[in-house]
Amino acid sequence: MGKYNVTYKCGHECEIELFGKTDDRRAKIEWMQDNQVGPTCYRAQQTERIAAADAAENLPELTGSEKQIAWALKIRREKIDDFKKQTAKVTDPKIKEIIEWLSGHAEAKFWIDHRFDTFQDFGRLGMEELGFAK
Ligand SMILES: [Zn+2]
Repeated sequence: MGKYNVTYKCGHECEIELFGKTDDRRAKIEWMQDNQVGPTCYRAQQTERIAAADAAENLPELTGSEKQIAWALKIRREKIDDFKKQTAKVTDPKIKEIIEWLSGHAEAKFWIDHRFDTFQDFGRLGMEELGFAK
């Protein structure tokens, strides 16, 4: 095991621990320096990416505590992307309505409470709430 200072692509420096053969470690460090941004910049990039995607879809601003909102933003993006991906080939027009229903949830708590739900769970819940389920 060894500790190394890595200067990421973004210019930030970070101390990391690496294991394994010396040659492998050196290769890993070089790869990280050429290809990765540091943890702070990575988080900032993710937040930006989520905000841009949310804005493109006109998603509502979330309500709740600052901490809840920060967490829920990630969950919402992940769940909506997953739902869309999983249902991309479904031609039933109900899917569009379910996506709208899902996207309309503005309470951070909803997303946090449903963080373990799969796209099927959301599909079922949406069908129920929209009155499609008989
Ligand atoms: Zn950085």
